[in-house]
Amino acid sequence: QAKAEGRNCYRMFDAAMDEAITRRRELERDLRTALANGGLELHYQPQVRAGSCELIGFEALARWRHPVRGLIPPGEFIQLAEETGLISALGEWVLRSACSEAARWTRPLKLAVNLSPREFQQSDLPERIFAILAETGLPPSRLEIEITETAIFADMSRALSILMRLKALGISIAMDDFGTGYASLATLQAFPFDKIKIDRSFVGQVETSPQAAVIVRAVLGLGRSLGIGVVAEGVETAGQVRFLVGENCEELQGYLFGKPQPIESFAEVMGGRQACDLAIRAAPVRQP
Ligand code: C2E
Ligand code: MG
Ligand code: MG
Ligand code: MG
Repeated sequence: QAKAEGRNCYRMFDAAMDEAITRRRELERDLRTALANGGLELHYQPQVRAGSCELIGFEALARWRHPVRGLIPPGEFIQLAEETGLISALGEWVLRSACSEAARWTRPLKLAVNLSPREFQQSDLPERIFAILAETGLPPSRLEIEITETAIFADMSRALSILMRLKALGISIAMDDFGTGYASLATLQAFPFDKIKIDRSFVGQVETSPQAAVIVRAVLGLGRSLGIGVVAEGVETAGQVRFLVGENCEELQGYLFGKPQPIESFAEVMGGRQACDLAIRAAPVRQP
């Protein structure tokens, strides 16, 4: 009896495994197709100066428009792309599309692009990026690369060499999601970051958790002492803005100022209007 049940259990497990493997294979095939046929798109999220709400730039965020499943967020396909080796082509597409978009903007706003740890490990990354800048005509000074600490810890000396070469080209580097992993003070000292992005898990709690407020204040102090700019990610409320401005945080990003959207949604802003209009209108932003 027990034995039979056990066998049943295994059979169910096998079936579930088979299903997961099939699903994954389908998804991999679909992602390959999307890459080849324009199934990926970029949304852009504004970054603003804290005191004035002046628009500084946009972070490009990848989206996959799946024919059956609809809009898939990067959390569900970047890892798949890394595991299947598609990340290199995906990253190249993201960079080329974002840079050629930003090169057309009527104002010289900054463009932030995320790189996954795997992409960051390509030793010829600086040359690849430089080729894309040359091809699209975007000045290197307008590009900011965002990486997480995982990208660095895989191979510290290679990471340092890549960062130095990117910086030598005039590209700036931001440490994304700061505070969520193992990045230490030593990391900030040893690597030439231009910017720290405080993870939104802290920013979202500055009004409700004294610990989160202390951490955010400490990161801001750290940035000031080291001469590194600090951006608060995931700003959603006016109270958070008040806290951050009070603590002299320089840059803000979050749903309050605009959700990631196709660039066309920001047409007025691109035409010269201030981001404050954007912040006011952003509250009831159209749902995609
Ligand atoms: P990230 O770089 O930390 O991007 C910020 C994420 O927080 C975005 O999620 C954004 O939509 C979300 N966010 C921004 N403001 C708020 C807010 O006020 N509240 C809340 N709840 N969320 C907010 P998204 O677009 O789903 O991206 C998730 C992650 O996927 C990114 O985190 C980044 O690590 C990665 N990613 C996105 N695009 C790319 C890409 O083109 N290449 C690579 N390698 N990774 C990407
Ligand atoms: Mg980012
Ligand atoms: Mg982040
Ligand atoms: Mg993140």
